[in-house]
Amino acid sequence: MKTIQWFPGHMAKARREVKEKLSQIDVVIELLDARIPRSSQNPIIEELTDGKPRLILLNKADLADEGKTNEWIAHFKKDGVDALPVDAQSGTGVKRIGPACRMLTQSLHDKWRAKGMKPRELRAVILGIPNVGKSTLMNRLVGKRQAPVGDRPGVTKKQQWLKVGSELALLDTPGILWPKFSNQEVGLRLAVTGAIKDELLDYGDVAAYALQFLARTYPHQLAARYDLSYPLDPEDIGELFEAIGKKRGCIVRGGMVDMDKVAELVLRELRAGKMGRLTLETASEKEVVTDEDSRG
Ligand code: GDP
Repeated sequence: MKTIQWFPGHMAKARREVKEKLSQIDVVIELLDARIPRSSQNPIIEELTDGKPRLILLNKADLADEGKTNEWIAHFKKDGVDALPVDAQSGTGVKRIGPACRMLTQSLHDKWRAKGMKPRELRAVILGIPNVGKSTLMNRLVGKRQAPVGDRPGVTKKQQWLKVGSELALLDTPGILWPKFSNQEVGLRLAVTGAIKDELLDYGDVAAYALQFLARTYPHQLAARYDLSYPLDPEDIGELFEAIGKKRGCIVRGGMVDMDKVAELVLRELRAGKMGRLTLETASEKEVVTDEDSRG
């Protein structure tokens, strides 16, 4: 179980480690969760990468709403950053990463050629918050055979480059970024998608947030999954918990619905894509700013 908690000390250390990695890098591969591209993006990514070519990958695209993923891609493009949808688990879209990196570093190649140098392989690193799929993607890109040998006594661990085809080399360890904890809503979205540990927030609150979101945005998918009568009332979360609990037999002694069980069921099924493909935030929606943030 991953137990990363981000205290200021951890953030400073992660920032230092990412900065060190970037000194040798030609192109940065930034991994985001396609269901929450805004909430899974590190708040200081621009500053960290400092003008280096950057490719955004919207991972877990298999779980996200395809139309909204396309809107996100257009949104990033407008800001001058190329983005691709990928599913690191099945490998869909992964073949496009190499050529996209090559496109982004054309000027570097031109520079090498102008100096009469033979172009070497491009050096890339994968950056992203915990659980976004960095290891899964590395395994996909590199293949298990090449994966670096673990710590062995007497062998000093130094950074290695792993070959991806003939033109790309990947740094053997991805860079771990901290998610933004700018407000409660971002935290809830991270929790719904499984990006942060369930123990960090109240499980019932996370499930209630998820159910309200589903009832508002994907009511048909929610109703179909639990055979609920339509229309749903997104303001009456208690009723939704009750209805789902009854349909699924989450009942405790005395015939009462077991709310914890319903919460666990809904989150597990949502994360596994059982309610269909869902995106929790759109490119057009403004970032949620709470009073606390604006007081700053
Ligand atoms: P890391 O912490 O960033 O290295 O994340 P991992 O590679 O360990 O992935 C976290 C979880 O997400 C694992 O359970 C993976 O199987 C799952 N995962 C990674 N990529 C995808 C994807 O594209 N689609 C789906 N459905 N699951 C994925």
